[in-house]
Amino acid sequence: MSQATLSDIRHPNPYEVAQRQFDIAADRLGLKESLRRTLRSTKRELTVNFPVGMDNGDVEIFTGYRVQHNVARGPAKGGIRYHPDVTLDEVRALAMWMTWKCAVVKLPYGGAKGGVICEPKRMSLREQEGLTRRFTTELSIIIGPDSDIPAPDVNTNPQTMAWIMDTYSQHHGYSIPSVVTGKPVIVGGSEGRADATGRGVVFTVEEAAREIGLDLAGATVAVQGYGNAGSVAAKLLHYDYGAKVIAISDSQGGVYCEAGIDPDSAVHYKGQNGSLSGLPGTEPISNDDLLTLPCDVLIPAALENQISAYNADSIQAKIIAEAANGPTTPEADEILYGNGRMVIPDIIANAGGVTVSYFEWVQDKQAFFWTEKEINQKLRQIMTSSFADVLTMAKREQVNMRTAAYLLAVDRVATASAVRGLYP
Ligand code: GLU
Repeated sequence: MSQATLSDIRHPNPYEVAQRQFDIAADRLGLKESLRRTLRSTKRELTVNFPVGMDNGDVEIFTGYRVQHNVARGPAKGGIRYHPDVTLDEVRALAMWMTWKCAVVKLPYGGAKGGVICEPKRMSLREQEGLTRRFTTELSIIIGPDSDIPAPDVNTNPQTMAWIMDTYSQHHGYSIPSVVTGKPVIVGGSEGRADATGRGVVFTVEEAAREIGLDLAGATVAVQGYGNAGSVAAKLLHYDYGAKVIAISDSQGGVYCEAGIDPDSAVHYKGQNGSLSGLPGTEPISNDDLLTLPCDVLIPAALENQISAYNADSIQAKIIAEAANGPTTPEADEILYGNGRMVIPDIIANAGGVTVSYFEWVQDKQAFFWTEKEINQKLRQIMTSSFADVLTMAKREQVNMRTAAYLLAVDRVATASAVRGLYP
């Protein structure tokens, strides 16, 4: 295999991946050509280059994007990520995935995503605040509580959302909490939002385990990516279901322990040391090796393109729950399906985050807040019924879970577009 080919296999362009996933569903649905062309590309794309004053007195220029893929079913919704590898095509793919995600769990939203090319881990808090406030200002021509509502994603968090909310509110002269979700509870955030993505993942794992007859008590779990989604999923599976977390990793590498890792101690250790490496009682494992470990449940919770034709045949997990967006390539999907692995695709597995974002937005709009218990009950109801819809579709159409989820989602968006009609 030549180097170029291997790189193409392992790192395909995420936008092309998203379009190929869409094509599979569009073909099966027999989508009209004009609608297919509309849904296959994005609606609106904003690129901004903007200056930020750094701590050393220099002014650095950053590039950021906000892409709205589709708004047929409601305002655009989706997170903002800060990462050195952000590209416009990545943000396009992530925006498209948001459209399908909101449709598959029936939230009244379209899809969007934002990103800034930067390395937040090397920036001070003050520099991150400056970048966020200026980026928000640049985005203010397209974001808004009824048009496009950002949220956290990779390397952004409730503090980032508080700065976005404050900046947008300063422009208008009064507080507008519903412009962004994932805020701290004290400024209009929702109970349960911080854990929602991981909790949603676990609700779908519970359903998948029931379907394949896997007892989660004592089941072995490997988690790639120990951020907001991965660490919460690990904790809930361990403490609430009695599963054994045998391997976890972050961008620096991973750790393995056959006897099981205590998820809370790992969070604590990572907080103290900046990474998981050297976690007492564990041995090091690479991110690649973690994916192919013998285990019952594999949770890719990091970035795109982790499972490709390069390693899909070596994956041993019975259930692969995609906490990350886009971790599996279409070629890998076919291999995993052929090998009888149950993939819970990203657009359903990680939809808990945007679902509780929706609850947050509704609460902000009515200025009346629910308890965490109510939030978690409503979240469970949406996740389990959506999972059941996808599973039924997969069985009926004899397709993998991703295509089943796409068939539901694309049909809903296409039907909304058709019923709204062509303007003018
Ligand atoms: N960034 C998250 C996702 O990919 C959450 C989006 C949101 O809450 O709007 O689903």
